[in-house]
Amino acid sequence: MSDLWNDGDPIADTAAPDGPIETRWERHRFSAKLVNPANRRKLTVIVVGTGLAGGSAAATLAEAGYRVKSYCYQDSPRRAHSIAAQGGINAAKNYRNDGDSVYRLFYDTVKGGDFRARESNVYRLASVSANIIDQCVAQGVPFAREYGGLLDNRSFGGTQVSRTFYARGQTGQQLLLGAYQAMERQIGLGNIEMNARHEMLELIVVDGKARGIVVRDMVTGEITTEFADAVVLASGGYGNVFFLSTNAKGCNVTASWRAHRKGALFANPCYTQIHPTCIPESGTHQSKLTLMSESLRNDGRVWVPLSVGDKRAPGDIPEDERDYYLERIYPAFGNLVPRDIASRAAKNVCDEGRGVGPGGLGVYLDFADAIGRLGRKAVEAKYGNLFEMYQRITGEDPYEVPMRIYPAVHYTMGGLWVDYNLQSTIPGLFVIGEANFSDHGANRLGASALMQGLADGYFVLPNTINNYLAAGPFPDISENPAVAEARATVEERITKLLSIDGDRTVDSFHRELGHIMWEYCGMERTEEGLSKAIGLIRGLRDEFWQRVKVPGTGEQLNQNLEKAGRVADFFELAELKCIDALHRRESCGGHFRAESQTADGEALRHDDQFSYVAAWEYATDGGKPTLHKEQLEFEYVHPSTRSYK
Ligand SMILES: Cc1cc2nc3c(=O)[nH]c(=O)nc-3n(C[C@H](O)[C@H](O)[C@H](O)COP(=O)(O)OP(=O)(O)OC[C@H]3O[C@@H](n4cnc5c(N)ncnc54)[C@H](O)[C@@H]3O)c2cc1C
Repeated sequence: MSDLWNDGDPIADTAAPDGPIETRWERHRFSAKLVNPANRRKLTVIVVGTGLAGGSAAATLAEAGYRVKSYCYQDSPRRAHSIAAQGGINAAKNYRNDGDSVYRLFYDTVKGGDFRARESNVYRLASVSANIIDQCVAQGVPFAREYGGLLDNRSFGGTQVSRTFYARGQTGQQLLLGAYQAMERQIGLGNIEMNARHEMLELIVVDGKARGIVVRDMVTGEITTEFADAVVLASGGYGNVFFLSTNAKGCNVTASWRAHRKGALFANPCYTQIHPTCIPESGTHQSKLTLMSESLRNDGRVWVPLSVGDKRAPGDIPEDERDYYLERIYPAFGNLVPRDIASRAAKNVCDEGRGVGPGGLGVYLDFADAIGRLGRKAVEAKYGNLFEMYQRITGEDPYEVPMRIYPAVHYTMGGLWVDYNLQSTIPGLFVIGEANFSDHGANRLGASALMQGLADGYFVLPNTINNYLAAGPFPDISENPAVAEARATVEERITKLLSIDGDRTVDSFHRELGHIMWEYCGMERTEEGLSKAIGLIRGLRDEFWQRVKVPGTGEQLNQNLEKAGRVADFFELAELKCIDALHRRESCGGHFRAESQTADGEALRHDDQFSYVAAWEYATDGGKPTLHKEQLEFEYVHPSTRSYK
């Protein structure tokens, strides 16, 4: 109990099977109820989101015979944020014969997540990973191939094997085209009703079950209520609560947050991934940051000058006056340490005054060795589009001078809590992809988000949702008062946002909120800073509801209105994030509490106190959120100090 939260009952049932881990998924699937093909046609599933998770789920459910209604806020499903994914997707195929296996991927993921993930789910993820590659190849996804024609692999952080499949630096785009084509086939057959440019603004819950959503047509402003037998949220992550992040500008938390307000627990909101290789911020004019894929750390070497304040051009600094600090501190993994470790190490050298570029907030990622060893052509073939992107943004040629990089917000491991069936605490509400709290614990390994999104959408959800839908079709709800109530909530909120007519833009509030979050709930967190942040967020939120200016009306395309609704939800999420970060008085993965570190500055977990998932219940009437704990059991990968040295 605290001033900021209440303690609730522990989570008793995760629906995760027991017994030997290798057969859990098999046995679970066998014991689940099925729906016969004739009955599937009578059942409707709403899928919010058309990224890799939502796109693959919609296509697979429709292929199975369910009626699917799909929603996204972009103008086309294939513009979902997944299209931005660059570096690759993991799978335990062991094509390189370098010692990989399902068990090793499972082990790396549990360890990489700093022992804060559920073993059963992670094992399942590792075991279906190989099927994903087969599925995508069959769809025609053009993965990179070796000279002999076999699929090529490269390495990502936190592993010592090469298991990352890729399509140059555009893996997300190619995978999404595969899922999109599968969806299009079903749209053409009339099994998926596609609603682009429609934003879900509320969840409809009837008799305790998720039964539909309230959506706004973003072009005409029309508000409608949509019904189904089950609802799937695949609405992505919420890194944009920090304003500046590598996420697409549209990424937001609204779909998840609306479900949270209706009773879905929100798990581990404080786990944010800060990616070590992003183009440094160049000024206050910026509205987003750009990722330089982690794959670049396969060949790029990270360094800073050995001496504080060395302002010489990189080419003028001799080898013996450079500090290849990742190779020095972590000789076993070198430049391929996991993201949380690489990010913090970059922050430390910059804090010491050895950072490079404007403001000293940057480190070098240098390809001189790789170009010397492999030749420029080979480097271009692997990373050409990333180099070009870097050059266009910075005006510097990375073939000639090292890239400058700095950590930036990239991914959110937290999200709506789900059980082994990917079902939230609201029956009938399933959550997949980055939107759920997922399998990555406190730190996601590179190339594992695409794997998880597609595992959820192609293989897991289609097998677990049957068990729920077998009890359907559920009764008609169109006249139920809960429907009118949900719709009224949306309409009242829009009216309120438009009527304030204040003197500050939505963006100015969002930027200030992001600044608070980065300062106090970013790469390093302290009790004092987090407590301060909560006060600042509350003050700014009150000001938002007094002074925000949303021009235009609700009956037209109005991007300010869209943003205002999303920022209003970010304010509430931001507070919960800080409360979660404050309550977790340990460091683990992406959550680094300065008070909890080892003598050499590494994250110090407290397994005796914090080996649990923190799942938060929404505080109604402005009260305190309630903390429910899912205790984590480690039967296979026993918690140890995570060392990459
Ligand atoms: C620059 C970048 C590079 C990356 N590279 C990699 C990589 O190489 N490998 C890897 O594994 N991971 C990578 N990631 C992470 C990965 O891309 C994402 O985690 C993943 O694509 C998320 O997929 P998703 O389907 O869960 O959500 P998204 O792709 O974000 O899709 C969300 C969908 O939900 C819809 N939506 C959201 N809210 C609403 C609403 N209220 N109403 C209607 N629709 C809504 C959106 O329209 C969209 O269709 C990268 C991330 C970034 C930012």
